[in-house]
Amino acid sequence: MINEDERRILLVHLRGADGMCTGCRAWWSRLAPYPCWQVEWATSRQARTITDRFLEGVR
Ligand SMILES: [Zn+2]
Repeated sequence: MINEDERRILLVHLRGADGMCTGCRAWWSRLAPYPCWQVEWATSRQARTITDRFLEGVR
């Protein structure tokens, strides 16, 4: 189950070509390695299987 807050975070905080979070850079001019803490927060609230699927491309 994904609520609106989590969905919005996951839509904005995406992995950039350089491996950094594009959302953090665009919104806060902050360089954070992806997944950033906001992605971690959103995914940690979801079912374990969804988190695994979401992070599959990162590992
Ligand atoms: Zn981010």
